[in-house]
Amino acid sequence: MVEAQGVRKSYGHLEILKGIDLQVQRGSVTCLIGPSGSGKTTFLRCINHLEKINAGRIYVDDSLVGYTERNGRLHEMKDKQTAISRRASGMVFQRFNLFPHMTIMENIIEAPIQVQGRNRREITAEAQVLLDRVGLGDRGRSYPQELSGGQQQRVAIARALAMKPKLMLFDEPTSALDPELVGEVLDVMKDLAEEGMTMVVVTHELGFARQVADHVVFMDGGVVVESGPPSEVLDNPQNERTQAFLSKVL
Ligand code: ATP
Repeated sequence: MVEAQGVRKSYGHLEILKGIDLQVQRGSVTCLIGPSGSGKTTFLRCINHLEKINAGRIYVDDSLVGYTERNGRLHEMKDKQTAISRRASGMVFQRFNLFPHMTIMENIIEAPIQVQGRNRREITAEAQVLLDRVGLGDRGRSYPQELSGGQQQRVAIARALAMKPKLMLFDEPTSALDPELVGEVLDVMKDLAEEGMTMVVVTHELGFARQVADHVVFMDGGVVVESGPPSEVLDNPQNERTQAFLSKVL
């Protein structure tokens, strides 16, 4: 579902991603872990073309996102084409980014109506099913500020799912939450994983990674240092940088 080859990304003279290769199989969950500043968030944003890459290729569902390839060179798409190519993936951010002046239901149906031209009645019915799925079936008429952070993040997940993505990208979805609200968001993500959604998750929640991930990728200094199933990377890391990181956070 995702194939990254030799991805490089710099901000000015500072190279943040130094050649990332990664494969994400359809229906699998990949957790990106690593120290602060290692480039995890930057890489996730590159998958969705929220950041431009300087070299390499990223394919989502066999298509380049944000670029076309001609004669072996990448050409950036126009904004409208990019928006269309970006639809394959849904993204959930650290901050929930709900529109404060819209109800929960309006937040969910806005993009399907405006971007996909979906029928309001049809998408409202689908949104209700999604809200039920994240345990907030009775909150459609509420406004974001009336909900807890955990509830808002569950709405953000429902909103991303309303676009029917093939892939879900999560950028530290629980790190802005009070500790007692983390579990309810992780539970929704676990359900999604069990239903077969392909997911790439930047997270510091190693318990979640151990329980849910098929693949754990440890990044440090803009490279993938070690990757594999959680039983290898988390429980029996081979690289000393992985060992040092885990000894600090566990
Ligand atoms: P964290 O766990 O703290 O979120 P991370 O591994 O996700 O860390 P990134 O957020 O990808 O790391 O950041 C990698 C580096 O890139 C950091 O040093 C950061 O300061 C830098 N960086 C990120 N975005 C920009 C930007 N827009 N302009 C310049 N530098 C940036």
